[in-house]
Amino acid sequence: MTEEVRKVIILGSGPAGMTAAIYAARANLEPLVLEGIQPGGQLMITTDVENFPGFAEGVAGPELMEVMKRQAQRFGTEFEQVNVERVEFQKDQRVLHGGGKTYRCRALIISTGASARWLGLESEKRLQGHGVSACATCDGFFFKDKEIAVVGGGDTAMEEANFLTKFGTKIYVIHRRDKLRASKTMQERAFKNPKIEFVWDSVVTEILGSPEEGVQGVRVKNVKTGEENKLSCQGYFAAIGHTPNTQIFEGLIDMDEAGYILTKPFSTHTSVPGVFAAGDVQDKKYRQAVTAAGTGCMAALDAERYLEELALTE
Ligand code: NDP
Repeated sequence: MTEEVRKVIILGSGPAGMTAAIYAARANLEPLVLEGIQPGGQLMITTDVENFPGFAEGVAGPELMEVMKRQAQRFGTEFEQVNVERVEFQKDQRVLHGGGKTYRCRALIISTGASARWLGLESEKRLQGHGVSACATCDGFFFKDKEIAVVGGGDTAMEEANFLTKFGTKIYVIHRRDKLRASKTMQERAFKNPKIEFVWDSVVTEILGSPEEGVQGVRVKNVKTGEENKLSCQGYFAAIGHTPNTQIFEGLIDMDEAGYILTKPFSTHTSVPGVFAAGDVQDKKYRQAVTAAGTGCMAALDAERYLEELALTE
């Protein structure tokens, strides 16, 4: 079995991982990025990114990730497309197993991100990027003067619905129960907003439309009466939560009850020395490419300092 030994390994290749790689490589730490199952992260399924500073005309998500990768490679970052299946934290080494190989490193940066939860409908998948989205901040702007459906009853759904009222003419919040899970303040804000209409006790059974003409509506079923209706809308946002990609770290590192990695205030240090976390894997609040990139930079600087201190004590 082959073994790689590195100063720094970065797990995950979204904006957090790529930025960590750029900084670590420029600090001569010769980082290796293990790209994971979705190289480039969530931006690879986004169409236009218009809020990443530096791109006045906007940039396609996959293109932005390609540019970041080239920038990281320019300073010597190496990439491997491997999915890490198992992790061990030894006293002075972090050991990763995946793709039939073992990787050892002094400092590990976890930037495995989070995945938006979807209802799992075939039509939801087919129309992704054609009116179906899971991020209002990213895509809301494309729905000016349109009708939009938001699915979910938590804080994310309320936040997305409120935000979308800046663009849409009408926002339907479709929730499977008759009570919201969202905090009282968020609920009240949504109830007060005249553009938001709640569709209670209902589930979306199909999203109507085609990639050519975009979303045309949703088919909604009332779970109490069994009645089915069609709602006209040109946008559909799934807001039923995110799942942080931390399964392989369960029991090894401190996480909150939802599985997000806990970091020490104003740093990327985790509960394990030499292990740092950046991006959506430790952030359920901001979840932006630019904030992920910011914490990726912090993680590389924290890792660099950790390695310097380690060298002094050895
Ligand atoms: P939550 O888990 O809180 O809510 C998910 C919502 O989606 C629930 O209403 C749930 O319904 C519904 N849902 C889940 N699965 C399905 C399904 N298959 N079909 C239909 N509906 C479904 O996730 P959020 O993302 O809203 O929030 C996650 C965490 O992040 C929370 O702690 C929240 O407070 C926090 N947050 C804070 C924000 C802020 O402070 N600004 C903004 C956004 C999030 P049901 O209620 O029936 O279970």
